[in-house]
Amino acid sequence: MRGAVLYAPGDVRVEEREDPRIVEPTDAVIRLAATCVCGSDLWPYRGIEAIRGPAPMGHEYAGIVEEVGSDVRAVQPGQFVVGSFFASDNTCEICRAGYQSSCVHREPVGALGAQAERLRVPLADGTLVATPAVPADDLVPSLLAASDVLGTGWFGAVAAEVGPGRTVAVVGDGAVGLLAVLAARQLGAERIIAMSRHEPRQRLAREFGATDIVTERGNEGVGRIKDLTGGLGAHSVIEAVGTQESMMQAIRATRPGGHVGYVGVAHGVELPGGELFFSHVHLHGGPAPVRRFLPELIDLICNRTIDPGKVFDLELPLEQAAEGYRAMDERRAIKTLLRP
Ligand SMILES: [Zn+2]
Repeated sequence: MRGAVLYAPGDVRVEEREDPRIVEPTDAVIRLAATCVCGSDLWPYRGIEAIRGPAPMGHEYAGIVEEVGSDVRAVQPGQFVVGSFFASDNTCEICRAGYQSSCVHREPVGALGAQAERLRVPLADGTLVATPAVPADDLVPSLLAASDVLGTGWFGAVAAEVGPGRTVAVVGDGAVGLLAVLAARQLGAERIIAMSRHEPRQRLAREFGATDIVTERGNEGVGRIKDLTGGLGAHSVIEAVGTQESMMQAIRATRPGGHVGYVGVAHGVELPGGELFFSHVHLHGGPAPVRRFLPELIDLICNRTIDPGKVFDLELPLEQAAEGYRAMDERRAIKTLLRP
């Protein structure tokens, strides 16, 4: 089969890879309807994160089950399924508490390379959620978004305790930040402030439910959030970048007693203990337990309540994955969908 492989910073190639097959009796093999490039794929692509040899890429997936192992009961060949970037058993104590991305048996799907024609999914019963029927083709981008960026933005909003009557600020205007806006809207936030300086992203943020746009960053951005909230700061702030600046912007834009939901993969973030102590801010985040939210998100997509697939502003054949990475790296695209 064909699949994307990262050889070195900036060097993504689509080449022949070994066809996936059932290894464990709990595995499934799926044929991807679509896959995509993640903001987090850009960290190794830019050489900021080390690459271990030629690495198969991709961890977002949706498609049709082709084959299941002998112990798989919950999904069957022919079903359309969505899964998350960590395979999980969904039965251990951590999974049952809603933290499937820290499952005691978790396996990273990224290592298996979902930017490909087919994918082996470990722990299929716990990992995959089937749609009620094979979806119309126009729903595929939204279902693919549920696999990571929507689920991650949703977790950011839940971790930030978004709810009715709350003012929410979102730091980061990538796909996760934009879908955190959508999540905040769905969860009933009263006011949603998107922090973005890019016009097309501001437009999408407004479409997803943002009521205000703040273009300033850092302490100036914090000042603007304070201005908009009577000097107090937002109740809930979602951090969707993962840098020192964005994390401190999130913490400082939150009012005492408020909540930060941080879902940007942290790179070099160090928190000052003294400032944190006196901030009175709750911090909760990490790799999103997307599996917790998948059944609800699939419902909202299939009944067309939400359309998170709008974050894909570039669609390419899998063979052109390299251009998909380049477009995101140069910020010409918010998120690239790849069709195998
Ligand atoms: Zn588990």
